[in-house]
Amino acid sequence: MSINHFPNFRYHPDPVATGNVGPSTTACSICQQARGYVYLRDAIHPGREDYSEQICPWCIADGRAASALNIAFACSLDVDQDVPETALEELSQRTPGYVSFQGEKWLAHCRDVCRFLGDATLEQVRQASAASIAAWCAANDADEALWSELASDYAPGGDIGFYTFECLHCGLIQFHVDAA
Ligand SMILES: [Zn+2]
Ligand SMILES: [Zn+2]
Repeated sequence: MSINHFPNFRYHPDPVATGNVGPSTTACSICQQARGYVYLRDAIHPGREDYSEQICPWCIADGRAASALNIAFACSLDVDQDVPETALEELSQRTPGYVSFQGEKWLAHCRDVCRFLGDATLEQVRQASAASIAAWCAANDADEALWSELASDYAPGGDIGFYTFECLHCGLIQFHVDAA
């Protein structure tokens, strides 16, 4: 299976790079095909089942997995901004999620959900634009001193997470920050 055929996720463009979909020879529990990749995370559902490493990204992309099992993938409940129901539905039912320390949060901008680009690099955090920092301060009711403190303590893979989101409309980069 060529990577060219990999499904296109509007809100999570490269879930392999972000570490949430990975190569696998396992047959998908929905389409029964071994397509080379599976979703590595558990789905969002009330039961005790663990759906990690058994659903292929194609069955996430076309909504088959969400409707067959009545599950969700990315969490749409935590989106603060006013965005259309269709965007929230695409996010929760047809988009691979990610994991963070305190539970995933998806950022929004320009009345749409942003696309998730994964853990920030050190450079992305240290060189964050004034607009990115201002957006974070406003969203978290915090001042720039706190941003600077968190940013200077950041080491990818450490106890503080900086998750990067990009607005699909104006290109603003925003960070969701949380800690272990
Ligand atoms: Zn499948
Ligand atoms: Zn925007």
